[in-house]
Amino acid sequence: MLPADRSTTTLSKSGTNRPGSSFGTETPIQYVKGVGPKLGALLTSRGISTVSELLHFFPRQYEDRTKMAQVVNLREGEKATVSLRVIDLKRIPIRKLGRSILEVRCTDDSGLLSLKWFHVPKGMDARFKPGTQFVATGSVKVYLGKKEIIHPEISWGVTSSSDIEAGHPHVGRVIPIYTEIEGIPTRFLRKILWEAIEKFGAGLTEDIPSRFLAAHQLPTLAHSIREIHFPTGNGEDIQKLLEFATAYHHRLIYEEFFKFEYLILKQRLKMERSLAPTFGDQTGTHALQELEAVLPFQLTRDQKSAIQDISADLSQPHPMNRLIQGDVGSGKTAVAFLTAGLVLAQGGQVALMAPTEILAEQHHRNALKLFGIKLNIGLLTGKTSASDRALILGRLISGEPLLLIGTHALIEDPVQFKNLCYIIIDEQHRFGVEQRRTLRKKGTHLDPVSGRLLLPHNLALSATPIPRTLALTAYGDLSQTLIKELPPGRSPIQTKVVRTKSDQGLSYQLIRKELTQGHQAYFIFPLVNDSEAEGFTELKSAVAEAERLSTEVFPEFKVGLLHGQMRPEDKAKVMSDYLSKKLHILVSTTVVEVGVDVPNATIMAIVHAERFGLSQLHQLRGRVGRGKSQSYCFLFTHQNTGETTTQRLEVLEETTDGFKIAEADLEMRGPGEFLGTRQAGSLPFHLANIVRDRDWLLKARDDAYALLREDPDLIRSENISLKCYFSREGQTQFERLKTS
Ligand code: ADP
Ligand code: MG
Repeated sequence: MLPADRSTTTLSKSGTNRPGSSFGTETPIQYVKGVGPKLGALLTSRGISTVSELLHFFPRQYEDRTKMAQVVNLREGEKATVSLRVIDLKRIPIRKLGRSILEVRCTDDSGLLSLKWFHVPKGMDARFKPGTQFVATGSVKVYLGKKEIIHPEISWGVTSSSDIEAGHPHVGRVIPIYTEIEGIPTRFLRKILWEAIEKFGAGLTEDIPSRFLAAHQLPTLAHSIREIHFPTGNGEDIQKLLEFATAYHHRLIYEEFFKFEYLILKQRLKMERSLAPTFGDQTGTHALQELEAVLPFQLTRDQKSAIQDISADLSQPHPMNRLIQGDVGSGKTAVAFLTAGLVLAQGGQVALMAPTEILAEQHHRNALKLFGIKLNIGLLTGKTSASDRALILGRLISGEPLLLIGTHALIEDPVQFKNLCYIIIDEQHRFGVEQRRTLRKKGTHLDPVSGRLLLPHNLALSATPIPRTLALTAYGDLSQTLIKELPPGRSPIQTKVVRTKSDQGLSYQLIRKELTQGHQAYFIFPLVNDSEAEGFTELKSAVAEAERLSTEVFPEFKVGLLHGQMRPEDKAKVMSDYLSKKLHILVSTTVVEVGVDVPNATIMAIVHAERFGLSQLHQLRGRVGRGKSQSYCFLFTHQNTGETTTQRLEVLEETTDGFKIAEADLEMRGPGEFLGTRQAGSLPFHLANIVRDRDWLLKARDDAYALLREDPDLIRSENISLKCYFSREGQTQFERLKTS
């Protein structure tokens, strides 16, 4: 992505954000003076096809040309801008090269300066008639005692400070430096931008109601765009400009957040106004109490309050859209089961969708173990036999209150519910928007009494704690419940980043000791999809490592291998062997990442830990420490791992707080990690960065909310421009994100 690549490297890798698509100046780029069809086509091919997009192509650097230097004061190595007059010019032939150097001798009346070109642009000689005045910029050299600049940048037609005051793109100011687009020098881009701002800058529509701008003392859009390209300051703000920290940048950042938050909050309000079946009567409460009574443990306080949140939502005639975030092992599934029981008891059907077969089966097993016949449960996965399947489909269509646990198999066409009222999605970030929407459609039905459309209630579970800024943006359409507290009796996992061979030796000793005591270990490899080119196929490594561990390192123990490319039945076999302790070590790719529950495992060894994000490592680590024994996590890193990466990993040695880790991860890696397949890793922000600009996000959100309350249909005159913007742009940016 071209424009403003400095600010967005951590935000969007996709390049799908059309710069400036949110601003009104949709005039084609060809209408800018100096841009013909050829240049227009080139710019268009690089994502700049309208004036607005051009105006949002921001400088990569700035250079201070506010002060003209005096030739007499120039020093070797200095970068300087000087106002000059031509004395004479000559060609110095270089026979070896078969061409000549152009030397132009100039003065500013304080001293002599030579300008030299080794490659002489066409027509150059003719422009330097003796007496001609111009401004030159470049690095000063001293050659044989004489000052010179090689290949200076020349600005014609400016000679005096009055010319400069009249406005000039290249001298007498802090000038912008743009990322060069093939064949278009930055000087030329600067010129085009200057023309575009002159002609179109004032015409930029102001979408943000002026009272919000005034409240935050923010400048107008037109003013901001001009200042970002051609700052009027005297160079003191260059650093701030580069950091997107000027009021002008804040103005643009605020606007991006404001529009986004407005749409997402509006969507949320709309959802909150649509209808859903209610589950608020006594039967449900009784069922909850009964189910809780059969649990072999006490619910934690956080689990209880999560259940309260959900019951309150379910008792309302509007669809719940709630996300429960809680670390692995915090007991989210128990919350899901209990609340499912509440709905079943009142005659509704419930679907629980998990991203893998292993996980779906485990949920099914656990539900049976915890509640026995007290919950009416079914299982539907790709493995379910045709006859079992037919049976289940029959039960669904009969309207029998059933909690159906399953994989993607749940969203296949033939699966039809009579009365699906409550949808639970485990590890929701592993599903795409479409998949969730499909399941939701299966739960949308006409209310036989009122004849109105009823939507199902939705609960999403996430084991990756989501930083607050992301919760407000990517997940802004969901209500949130946090489960921070882990069930009692779990001792914190000891974590160690392992770099050296000798540390590795020590780690193996400890692992051997644990295995000897009858515990089990995981060895995890990064999932590498498409890096065959790097010569690092994950499969080969896992296979090779399984081999090495079983023959060389731990020959006395049994090693199993699990990876995503195995047949489901083989996977299940390995998993069940591991569960029943026939295998001591499980070498695996990240397929075990989600939810797998083997309390006897006390070792999590992650190989090539440097290739994972912190949150993912944290999640993997959560596979151990599920029983009473002390557990350990080893993060084996490649010996070439850099200092910053190592420091990053050390966060895991220091804390087990998933929210802290998530914040650290967001700061270091950007939001892609958390969003996953949700929308391929990018928020629709061009300039704004949810980490850096967090304060503006909060302000914009408050304002958007205020606006929605005061003028929901944007009919007041001061909001008309915003209304036009939304009707013009539709909800395209938002469509890519929202959950429904
Ligand atoms: P999550 O889905 O949040 O990772 P689970 O719901 O799978 O966690 O719970 C992990 C394990 O802890 C399960 O074996 C579950 O039965 C158990 N568990 C859940 N809640 C409690 C609790 N309050 N006390 C003790 N154990 C619990
Ligand atoms: Mg879980």
